[in-house]
Amino acid sequence: MKKTILTGLRVNSELHLGHYLGVLLPMVRLANKYSEEYNVNIFVPDLHSIISPIEGSLKENMIRSMKYFLAAGLKINENVHIYRQSHVPAHAELAWVLNCHASMGEVSRMIQYKEKGEGKDSANVGIFDYPILMAADILLYDANYVPVGEDQFQHIELTRNLATRFNNKYGEVFTIPCPEKEQAEFMGENGGVRIRDLVNPEKKMSKSTPGENSKIMLSDEPKKAGKKIKSATTDSFSEVDFDFRTRPGISNLLQILALVKDKEVKEVAKEWRGKTSYGELKSEVADAVENLLEGFQTKLSEISDEEVLALFPEGEKYANEVANKKLDKVYKIIGLR
Ligand code: AMP
Repeated sequence: MKKTILTGLRVNSELHLGHYLGVLLPMVRLANKYSEEYNVNIFVPDLHSIISPIEGSLKENMIRSMKYFLAAGLKINENVHIYRQSHVPAHAELAWVLNCHASMGEVSRMIQYKEKGEGKDSANVGIFDYPILMAADILLYDANYVPVGEDQFQHIELTRNLATRFNNKYGEVFTIPCPEKEQAEFMGENGGVRIRDLVNPEKKMSKSTPGENSKIMLSDEPKKAGKKIKSATTDSFSEVDFDFRTRPGISNLLQILALVKDKEVKEVAKEWRGKTSYGELKSEVADAVENLLEGFQTKLSEISDEEVLALFPEGEKYANEVANKKLDKVYKIIGLR
Protein backbone atom coordinates (compact mmCIF):
# COMPACT_ATOMS: atom_id res chain seq x y z
CA MET A 1 0.00 0.00 0.00
CA LYS A 2 1.18 3.50 -0.83
CA LYS A 3 2.41 5.42 2.23
CA THR A 4 0.71 8.66 3.22
CA ILE A 5 2.16 12.00 4.26
CA LEU A 6 -0.37 14.29 5.89
CA THR A 7 -0.03 17.91 6.77
CA GLY A 8 -2.00 21.10 7.28
CA LEU A 9 -1.34 24.60 8.46
CA ARG A 10 -3.78 26.60 10.52
CA VAL A 11 -4.00 30.12 9.17
CA ASN A 12 -5.98 32.49 11.38
CA SER A 13 -4.17 35.61 10.27
CA GLU A 14 -1.23 36.60 8.16
CA LEU A 15 1.87 34.42 8.68
CA HIS A 16 5.45 35.43 9.48
CA LEU A 17 8.83 34.17 8.36
CA GLY A 18 8.89 31.66 11.26
CA HIS A 19 5.78 29.96 9.91
CA TYR A 20 7.16 30.08 6.39
CA LEU A 21 10.60 28.64 7.10
CA GLY A 22 9.63 26.50 10.10
CA VAL A 23 6.61 24.76 8.64
CA LEU A 24 5.36 25.83 5.22
CA LEU A 25 8.54 25.52 3.18
CA PRO A 26 9.68 22.20 4.74
CA MET A 27 6.18 20.80 4.12
CA VAL A 28 6.17 21.93 0.51
CA ARG A 29 9.66 20.57 -0.12
CA LEU A 30 8.71 17.19 1.35
CA ALA A 31 5.46 17.08 -0.61
CA ASN A 32 7.27 17.84 -3.87
CA LYS A 33 9.98 15.30 -3.11
CA TYR A 34 7.64 12.40 -2.31
CA SER A 35 4.44 13.01 -4.27
CA GLU A 36 5.45 10.63 -7.07
CA GLU A 37 5.57 7.65 -4.67
CA TYR A 38 3.37 8.62 -1.68
CA ASN A 39 -0.09 10.02 -1.14
CA VAL A 40 0.31 13.59 0.02
CA ASN A 41 -2.73 14.89 1.93
CA ILE A 42 -2.71 18.63 2.48
CA PHE A 43 -5.73 19.89 4.33
CA VAL A 44 -7.06 23.19 5.56
CA PRO A 45 -7.59 22.66 9.31
CA ASP A 46 -10.60 24.96 9.48
CA LEU A 47 -12.13 23.16 12.48
CA HIS A 48 -8.89 23.80 14.33
CA SER A 49 -9.08 27.46 13.32
CA ILE A 50 -12.19 28.12 15.35
CA ILE A 51 -10.51 27.29 18.66
CA SER A 52 -8.96 30.77 18.70
CA PRO A 53 -9.72 34.25 17.33
CA ILE A 54 -9.61 34.76 13.58
CA GLU A 55 -8.46 37.93 11.84
CA GLY A 56 -10.72 38.52 8.85
CA SER A 57 -13.16 35.83 7.74
CA LEU A 58 -12.70 32.07 8.01
CA LYS A 59 -13.25 31.81 4.26
CA GLU A 60 -10.53 34.34 3.47
CA ASN A 61 -8.09 32.50 5.71
CA MET A 62 -9.04 29.13 4.26
CA ILE A 63 -8.23 30.39 0.76
CA ARG A 64 -5.11 32.15 2.01
CA SER A 65 -3.85 28.95 3.61
CA MET A 66 -3.88 27.09 0.27
CA LYS A 67 -2.54 30.09 -1.62
CA TYR A 68 0.45 30.08 0.72
CA PHE A 69 1.18 26.45 -0.15
CA LEU A 70 0.94 27.15 -3.87
CA ALA A 71 3.02 30.34 -3.69
CA ALA A 72 5.65 28.45 -1.68
CA GLY A 73 5.98 26.11 -4.67
CA LEU A 74 3.66 23.16 -4.01
CA LYS A 75 3.36 21.05 -7.15
CA ILE A 76 0.03 19.37 -7.74
CA ASN A 77 -0.25 15.89 -9.24
CA GLU A 78 -2.74 13.03 -8.89
CA ASN A 79 -1.20 11.92 -5.57
CA VAL A 80 -1.63 15.32 -3.93
CA HIS A 81 -5.02 15.59 -2.22
CA ILE A 82 -6.23 18.97 -1.08
CA TYR A 83 -9.28 19.26 1.17
CA ARG A 84 -10.99 21.29 3.86
CA GLN A 85 -11.32 19.48 7.15
CA SER A 86 -14.89 20.69 7.76
CA HIS A 87 -15.93 19.19 4.40
CA VAL A 88 -15.02 15.71 5.61
CA PRO A 89 -17.40 15.06 8.52
CA ALA A 90 -15.56 11.87 9.53
CA HIS A 91 -12.87 14.02 11.23
CA ALA A 92 -15.28 15.30 13.86
CA GLU A 93 -16.99 11.91 14.18
CA LEU A 94 -13.80 9.96 14.78
CA ALA A 95 -12.63 12.65 17.20
CA TRP A 96 -15.68 11.89 19.34
CA VAL A 97 -14.90 8.16 19.39
CA LEU A 98 -11.27 8.89 20.29
CA ASN A 99 -12.39 11.30 23.03
CA CYS A 100 -14.06 8.35 24.69
CA HIS A 101 -10.77 6.42 24.63
CA ALA A 102 -8.52 9.20 25.92
CA SER A 103 -8.00 10.16 29.54
CA MET A 104 -8.34 13.65 30.99
CA GLY A 105 -4.89 13.17 32.50
CA GLU A 106 -3.04 12.50 29.26
CA VAL A 107 -4.78 15.29 27.35
CA SER A 108 -4.21 17.77 30.21
CA ARG A 109 -0.49 17.12 29.96
CA MET A 110 -0.29 18.64 26.46
CA ILE A 111 1.99 21.67 26.60
CA GLN A 112 0.02 23.49 23.91
CA TYR A 113 -3.08 23.33 26.12
CA LYS A 114 -1.16 24.80 28.99
CA GLU A 115 0.30 27.53 26.78
CA LYS A 116 -2.72 28.37 24.64
CA GLY A 117 -5.30 27.88 27.42
CA GLU A 118 -3.03 29.39 30.05
CA GLY A 119 -4.72 27.12 32.57
CA LYS A 120 -7.74 29.43 32.64
CA ASP A 121 -11.23 28.19 33.47
CA SER A 122 -12.47 30.41 30.66
CA ALA A 123 -10.35 28.61 28.00
CA ASN A 124 -12.67 26.94 25.49
CA VAL A 125 -12.97 23.16 25.47
CA GLY A 126 -11.70 23.10 21.88
CA ILE A 127 -8.26 24.25 23.06
CA PHE A 128 -8.17 21.29 25.40
CA ASP A 129 -9.55 18.82 22.89
CA TYR A 130 -7.88 19.77 19.61
CA PRO A 131 -5.06 17.20 19.92
CA ILE A 132 -7.78 14.52 19.76
CA LEU A 133 -9.17 16.07 16.58
CA MET A 134 -5.62 16.11 15.29
CA ALA A 135 -5.33 12.39 16.07
CA ALA A 136 -8.50 11.81 14.04
CA ASP A 137 -7.09 13.90 11.15
CA ILE A 138 -4.11 11.55 11.06
CA LEU A 139 -5.64 8.15 11.82
CA LEU A 140 -8.47 8.39 9.28
CA TYR A 141 -5.92 8.24 6.47
CA ASP A 142 -3.41 5.76 7.96
CA ALA A 143 -0.84 8.55 7.67
CA ASN A 144 2.74 7.45 8.33
CA TYR A 145 4.47 10.80 8.23
CA VAL A 146 3.03 14.00 9.65
CA PRO A 147 5.40 16.92 9.15
CA VAL A 148 4.57 19.47 11.85
CA GLY A 149 6.20 22.26 13.80
CA GLU A 150 8.21 21.13 16.82
CA ASP A 151 5.46 22.29 19.20
CA GLN A 152 3.20 19.59 17.76
CA PHE A 153 5.50 16.59 18.30
CA GLN A 154 3.78 15.81 21.60
CA HIS A 155 0.46 15.49 19.76
CA ILE A 156 1.91 12.91 17.39
CA GLU A 157 2.99 10.92 20.44
CA LEU A 158 -0.55 11.20 21.84
CA THR A 159 -1.92 9.98 18.49
CA ARG A 160 0.40 6.98 18.62
CA ASN A 161 -0.72 6.15 22.16
CA LEU A 162 -4.42 6.42 21.29
CA ALA A 163 -4.05 4.31 18.16
CA THR A 164 -2.08 1.63 19.97
CA ARG A 165 -4.63 1.50 22.79
CA PHE A 166 -7.49 1.26 20.30
CA ASN A 167 -5.79 -1.48 18.29
CA ASN A 168 -5.01 -3.47 21.46
CA LYS A 169 -8.62 -3.32 22.52
CA TYR A 170 -10.37 -3.97 19.20
CA GLY A 171 -7.83 -5.38 16.71
CA GLU A 172 -5.73 -3.76 13.99
CA VAL A 173 -7.78 -0.74 12.90
CA PHE A 174 -5.28 2.10 12.72
CA THR A 175 -1.83 2.49 11.23
CA ILE A 176 0.44 3.90 13.94
CA PRO A 177 2.20 7.03 12.64
CA CYS A 178 6.02 6.85 12.81
CA PRO A 179 7.68 7.80 16.10
CA GLU A 180 9.26 11.22 16.59
CA LYS A 181 12.77 10.09 15.69
CA GLU A 182 11.66 8.67 12.34
CA GLN A 183 9.46 11.70 11.67
CA ALA A 184 12.46 13.93 12.34
CA GLU A 185 14.70 11.84 10.05
CA PHE A 186 12.06 12.02 7.35
CA MET A 187 11.83 15.81 7.68
CA GLY A 188 15.61 16.08 7.54
CA GLU A 189 17.89 18.58 9.26
CA ASN A 190 15.74 21.54 8.37
CA GLY A 191 12.42 20.12 9.56
CA GLY A 192 10.70 21.14 12.78
CA VAL A 193 13.03 24.04 13.46
CA ARG A 194 12.11 27.10 15.48
CA ILE A 195 12.87 30.52 13.97
CA ARG A 196 13.78 33.04 16.65
CA ASP A 197 12.69 36.59 17.34
CA LEU A 198 15.12 38.96 15.61
CA VAL A 199 15.41 41.32 18.57
CA ASN A 200 15.26 38.79 21.40
CA PRO A 201 16.61 35.55 19.89
CA GLU A 202 16.03 33.62 23.13
CA LYS A 203 12.36 33.56 22.11
CA LYS A 204 10.64 32.19 19.02
CA MET A 205 9.44 34.58 16.33
CA SER A 206 5.80 35.23 17.10
CA LYS A 207 3.10 37.47 15.73
CA SER A 208 2.07 38.55 19.23
CA THR A 209 5.49 39.94 20.18
CA PRO A 210 5.27 43.74 20.15
CA GLY A 211 7.82 45.58 18.03
CA GLU A 212 8.07 45.75 14.25
CA ASN A 213 11.69 44.58 14.13
CA SER A 214 11.15 41.32 16.02
CA LYS A 215 9.45 39.60 13.15
CA ILE A 216 9.18 39.59 9.38
CA MET A 217 5.64 39.28 8.08
CA LEU A 218 5.16 37.58 4.70
CA SER A 219 3.62 40.77 3.34
CA ASP A 220 6.54 42.96 4.46
CA GLU A 221 8.06 44.99 1.71
CA PRO A 222 11.24 42.98 0.87
CA LYS A 223 13.67 45.86 1.43
CA LYS A 224 12.09 46.57 4.81
CA ALA A 225 12.50 42.89 5.70
CA GLY A 226 16.18 43.10 4.70
CA LYS A 227 16.64 46.04 7.05
CA LYS A 228 15.14 44.05 9.91
CA ILE A 229 17.69 41.29 9.29
CA LYS A 230 20.50 43.84 9.23
CA SER A 231 19.42 45.21 12.58
CA ALA A 232 18.96 41.75 14.19
CA THR A 233 20.52 41.15 17.60
CA THR A 234 23.68 39.04 17.43
CA ASP A 235 26.39 38.90 20.12
CA SER A 236 29.72 40.39 21.12
CA PHE A 237 31.97 37.46 20.20
CA SER A 238 34.53 38.19 17.52
CA GLU A 239 33.84 35.27 15.16
CA VAL A 240 30.78 33.63 13.64
CA ASP A 241 29.83 30.28 15.16
CA PHE A 242 26.72 28.11 15.36
CA ASP A 243 25.34 27.23 18.78
CA PHE A 244 21.75 28.04 19.71
CA ARG A 245 22.49 27.72 23.43
CA THR A 246 25.22 30.33 23.63
CA ARG A 247 24.84 32.24 20.32
CA PRO A 248 21.10 32.28 19.51
CA GLY A 249 21.13 35.44 17.37
CA ILE A 250 23.86 34.49 14.94
CA SER A 251 22.67 30.86 14.89
CA ASN A 252 19.20 32.07 13.93
CA LEU A 253 20.65 33.97 10.96
CA LEU A 254 22.64 30.91 9.83
CA GLN A 255 19.51 28.78 10.20
CA ILE A 256 17.45 31.24 8.14
CA LEU A 257 20.12 31.28 5.43
CA ALA A 258 20.26 27.48 5.31
CA LEU A 259 16.48 27.16 5.01
CA VAL A 260 16.16 29.80 2.31
CA LYS A 261 19.01 28.29 0.28
CA ASP A 262 17.76 24.73 0.91
CA LYS A 263 21.09 23.68 2.37
CA GLU A 264 21.86 21.81 5.57
CA VAL A 265 22.55 24.19 8.44
CA LYS A 266 25.74 22.22 9.21
CA GLU A 267 27.03 23.10 5.77
CA VAL A 268 26.16 26.80 6.06
CA ALA A 269 27.65 26.97 9.56
CA LYS A 270 30.87 25.43 8.26
CA GLU A 271 31.08 28.01 5.46
CA TRP A 272 30.78 30.90 7.93
CA ARG A 273 32.51 29.54 11.04
CA GLY A 274 35.48 31.69 12.10
CA LYS A 275 34.64 34.64 9.82
CA THR A 276 34.82 37.96 11.59
CA SER A 277 32.45 40.09 9.55
CA TYR A 278 28.96 39.85 11.04
CA GLY A 279 27.93 42.59 8.59
CA GLU A 280 28.77 40.41 5.61
CA LEU A 281 26.68 37.54 6.98
CA LYS A 282 23.78 39.87 7.69
CA SER A 283 23.95 41.25 4.12
CA GLU A 284 23.87 37.76 2.67
CA VAL A 285 20.91 36.72 4.83
CA ALA A 286 19.11 39.99 4.08
CA ASP A 287 19.56 39.47 0.30
CA ALA A 288 18.35 35.88 0.56
CA VAL A 289 15.23 36.89 2.53
CA GLU A 290 14.50 39.80 0.18
CA ASN A 291 14.67 37.49 -2.85
CA LEU A 292 12.53 34.92 -1.13
CA LEU A 293 9.82 37.46 -0.27
CA GLU A 294 9.88 39.01 -3.74
CA GLY A 295 9.36 35.63 -5.39
CA PHE A 296 6.73 34.54 -2.88
CA GLN A 297 4.74 37.77 -3.05
CA THR A 298 4.76 37.80 -6.85
CA LYS A 299 3.46 34.23 -7.02
CA LEU A 300 0.87 34.93 -4.32
CA SER A 301 -0.53 37.86 -6.29
CA GLU A 302 -0.88 35.65 -9.37
CA ILE A 303 -3.04 32.97 -7.72
CA SER A 304 -6.77 33.62 -7.86
CA ASP A 305 -9.38 32.52 -5.34
CA GLU A 306 -11.08 30.51 -8.10
CA GLU A 307 -7.89 28.59 -8.77
CA VAL A 308 -7.73 27.55 -5.13
CA LEU A 309 -11.43 26.72 -4.84
CA ALA A 310 -11.17 24.52 -7.94
CA LEU A 311 -8.74 22.21 -6.13
CA PHE A 312 -11.16 21.17 -3.40
CA PRO A 313 -13.90 19.08 -5.10
CA GLU A 314 -11.58 16.30 -6.25
CA GLY A 315 -9.56 16.28 -3.02
CA GLU A 316 -12.70 16.20 -0.91
CA LYS A 317 -14.18 13.34 -2.92
CA TYR A 318 -11.03 11.33 -2.30
CA ALA A 319 -10.79 12.33 1.38
CA ASN A 320 -14.42 11.43 2.09
CA GLU A 321 -14.02 8.04 0.44
CA VAL A 322 -10.91 7.13 2.43
CA ALA A 323 -12.09 8.64 5.72
CA ASN A 324 -15.59 7.14 5.59
CA LYS A 325 -14.17 3.69 4.96
CA LYS A 326 -12.03 3.98 8.08
CA LEU A 327 -14.85 5.45 10.17
CA ASP A 328 -17.17 2.66 9.08
CA LYS A 329 -14.59 0.11 10.22
CA VAL A 330 -14.32 1.87 13.59
CA TYR A 331 -18.10 2.06 14.04
CA LYS A 332 -18.48 -1.65 13.17
CA ILE A 333 -15.73 -2.80 15.48
CA ILE A 334 -17.07 -0.91 18.48
CA GLY A 335 -20.63 -2.04 17.76
CA LEU A 336 -22.27 1.12 16.41
CA ARG A 337 -23.01 -0.54 13.05
P1 AMP B 1 0.65 29.17 15.51
O1 AMP B 1 0.70 30.42 14.72
O2 AMP B 1 1.24 29.34 16.86
O3 AMP B 1 -0.73 28.54 15.52
O4 AMP B 1 1.61 28.11 14.79
C1 AMP B 1 1.25 27.40 13.64
C2 AMP B 1 2.43 26.49 13.31
O5 AMP B 1 3.55 27.29 12.95
C3 AMP B 1 2.87 25.60 14.46
O6 AMP B 1 3.05 24.28 13.99
C4 AMP B 1 4.18 26.17 14.90
O7 AMP B 1 5.11 25.18 15.23
C5 AMP B 1 4.70 26.91 13.69
N1 AMP B 1 5.45 28.10 14.11
C6 AMP B 1 4.96 29.21 14.70
N2 AMP B 1 5.96 30.09 14.95
C7 AMP B 1 7.11 29.51 14.53
C8 AMP B 1 8.48 29.89 14.53
N3 AMP B 1 8.89 31.05 15.02
N4 AMP B 1 9.40 29.04 14.01
C9 AMP B 1 9.01 27.84 13.50
N5 AMP B 1 7.73 27.41 13.46
C10 AMP B 1 6.79 28.23 13.98
